[in-house]
Amino acid sequence: PQQAKGTHALKKGLQKVKNIIAVSSCKGGVGKSTVAVNLAYSIASLYQDYSVGIFDADLYGPSLPTMISPTNTQLFQDENDPSLIAPIEFNGVKAMSYGFAAQNSANGKAAIMRGPIASNLVTQLIGNTNWGELDYLIVDFPPGTGDIQLTLGQEVALKAAVIVTTPQKLAYVDVIKGIEMFDQLKVPTIAVIENMSYYKCGTCDTKHKIFGQGYTNQIKNDFGIKSSFEVPILEDIASMSDSGTPFVLTLPETTELVQVYHTIAHK
Ligand code: ADP
Repeated sequence: PQQAKGTHALKKGLQKVKNIIAVSSCKGGVGKSTVAVNLAYSIASLYQDYSVGIFDADLYGPSLPTMISPTNTQLFQDENDPSLIAPIEFNGVKAMSYGFAAQNSANGKAAIMRGPIASNLVTQLIGNTNWGELDYLIVDFPPGTGDIQLTLGQEVALKAAVIVTTPQKLAYVDVIKGIEMFDQLKVPTIAVIENMSYYKCGTCDTKHKIFGQGYTNQIKNDFGIKSSFEVPILEDIASMSDSGTPFVLTLPETTELVQVYHTIAHK
């Protein structure tokens, strides 16, 4: 896409970032943020010489501040370049979220903003963070395919997109919207992740398909997407996410869930 004029200054902080990967879903609550955060930490722990960052692009319900627990969440000007903001760091991964900025604001409440202002704010926040040299920056997109998502996709040079869905039919229809949006932006969708795909009860080895069979194979075939992954339901993911440490760092490496993430990160 054509770059809008005069926006270079807004993206100074991204100049040394090699690969920006969007993690997107068209519906809320499918586990997109969980996937984005754990993918970032999987890449960082599997490839220790890669530098990794995560950007939470959701202004209305930023979840990164509860999913990681850095000791310092105060935002400061970058020491080396005062025109940029220093990212927050947690377990070797650089992080930024509007939630960190909002916590210092007068009421700390989620942003209530109209589209154009929100779009500019997201672009400014990602572009004015001093990410430094990064191999991978994972961007947790806000759910949906509206203005904010399109602007972000136009302003930031995305290498690829990963779409998160759940097995329900409705989610499938939404996935297609997501793929089409990234097509329009000329960004390849490289993987579809079917989250909450199945449950293993512990007494047998059957994958119980609680939400139905899912459509990832159909999506793969219809759209020529190379990879799809089924991520199991795990009972205590929610409490682990709220505890502020990504589960790929806390669960044993042999856990099926962690293995799935490692496979995704390898790709
Ligand atoms: P989104 O970013 O799509 O809104 P979240 O990542 O915030 O979704 O996840 C929504 C809720 O579902 C959270 O409470 C999260 O902990 C939980 N969750 C996500 N993935 C799983 C999973 N595989 N098994 C169980 N709970 C999950």
